[in-house]
Amino acid sequence: MKAAVHTGLDIPLQVRDDITVAEPGPGEVAIDVVASGVCHSDLSVLNGTIPMPTPIVLGHEGAGIVTAIGEGVTRVAVGDHVVLSFVPHCGECYTCKRGQGYLCEKAGMQALGGLLDGTTRLTLDDAPLHQMACLGTFGAQAVVPEISTVKIPDDVPLDIAALIGCGVLTGVGAALNTASIQPGDTVAVIGCGGVGLNVIQGARIAGAGKIIAIDMFDAKLEMAKQFGATDTVNAGEQDAGGAVMTINGGRGADTAFEVIGLKPTIEAAINMVRPGGEAILVGVPRLDVMLELNAAFTFLYLNKTVKGCWYGSVNVSEDVPKLLDLWRKGELKLEELISQEIAIEQVNEAFEAMQKGEVARSVIKH
Ligand SMILES: [Zn+2]
Ligand SMILES: [Zn+2]
Repeated sequence: MKAAVHTGLDIPLQVRDDITVAEPGPGEVAIDVVASGVCHSDLSVLNGTIPMPTPIVLGHEGAGIVTAIGEGVTRVAVGDHVVLSFVPHCGECYTCKRGQGYLCEKAGMQALGGLLDGTTRLTLDDAPLHQMACLGTFGAQAVVPEISTVKIPDDVPLDIAALIGCGVLTGVGAALNTASIQPGDTVAVIGCGGVGLNVIQGARIAGAGKIIAIDMFDAKLEMAKQFGATDTVNAGEQDAGGAVMTINGGRGADTAFEVIGLKPTIEAAINMVRPGGEAILVGVPRLDVMLELNAAFTFLYLNKTVKGCWYGSVNVSEDVPKLLDLWRKGELKLEELISQEIAIEQVNEAFEAMQKGEVARSVIKH
């Protein structure tokens, strides 16, 4: 099997075609991965922001076709088309039963780079080859937990279905699930990459009146307008907090989303919301990032709320069909997110394009 393998910090991914894939075990399914998005979180593993064991097949945003099922699998059958979810969703644990599938208690072993039991189904050079987030969609095939799959109708193109798995669920979910946007609200979004653009279109779907896109790259700000931004701020040229106040008539934003994961931009997001407003933290920070906030003003006198947002606060079995409905109605842009389709051999170039702010999403076709 062919896959792009991460072998160590800041080393370009290596494409190997001699990987062995095991048969699916109980509760597992084998997938032909047809398409995989290249997400910023893949790059964050490569540069150490998100620690993962090596060697590992990265990729956590994919879609494909079920080719075999293990013992006891009931959720999907051979031939089914599926979106892969980077958070398993069992539907039965404490958090799943409370409507918080994004925090499913079965997901804990993912940090070890294996499936639910911590072990991997891939072998390279006679050693275990890890799989990012129980998946590893930078491989042409994967064996994944049944509870990491969501069956979708056969007529949904698998390249756009792939994007749903991370960027769309996370971004649109942040706006529709995590936040409480009211029609006419003013929303600010810091960071207009693949996830940020989806926060913007989620805010548009939620009925926000003003959507202020903030980024350092003009090309991304132009893309933001296509997804629903009404105003743009280049934070390299002006103070973002001041610009939001000016655009919103001297009042901070009702809701601000941070979609980068840096200390200064997280603090800026919290500071730019109005009294009583909400800051939603979507970006992935390094593990050692600590915040400095004025406790009395932020939380007491100004009554602000800061909400974490893991995986768009989604329940994949409900949210994937909901997003596909919005796409069929023309409200959710999916095709427009794909800047380029690439072969797995071009994945390192796709990371470079992402860092230069040139693309919303590169999609690998296996
Ligand atoms: Zn991602
Ligand atoms: Zn669960």
